[in-house]
Amino acid sequence: MKKEDCIFCRIANGEIPSETIYEDKDFRIILDVGPATKGHALILPKEHAADLFELPEETASRALIVAKRMAQNMKERLLCDGINLVQNNGVAAGQTVSHFHIHIIPRYQEDGQRINWVPGKCTQEELEATRKQIMG
Ligand code: AMP
Ligand code: ZN
Repeated sequence: MKKEDCIFCRIANGEIPSETIYEDKDFRIILDVGPATKGHALILPKEHAADLFELPEETASRALIVAKRMAQNMKERLLCDGINLVQNNGVAAGQTVSHFHIHIIPRYQEDGQRINWVPGKCTQEELEATRKQIMG
């Protein structure tokens, strides 16, 4: 289903123009208007899902295949040195548009970008407690 007030639904379904670099019946890939690097793109499913939690498994699976193919294409055509796939869920994780999307960010030596976190510290006991909490 499409959500009327969702900008990525409207872009994905062609109601709002975009710099589209790939389209099939389920996805559109567009260039991000605020690119981290040259070629920064967004994979948008045409069906609305706010985030990974709402995304059907079948779409999730196909999204990664589309990402892989586009990454390969960018490597060959943009001659980038690496690729980051980034996917934010929830405001706490930096999501600003509530329509599932995967960032494909080509990386170039010395591009000056940082897609990083600060490594933390924890004890073996804390790791074990976290493992138990996640595994139930
Ligand atoms: P996120 O922070 O993961 O929700 O990423 C949202 C991304 O969408 C940002 O990188 C924005 O630059 C990008 N963005 C927002 N509006 C548009 C638009 N109309 N067309 C293309 N990219 C957009
Ligand atoms: Zn949407």
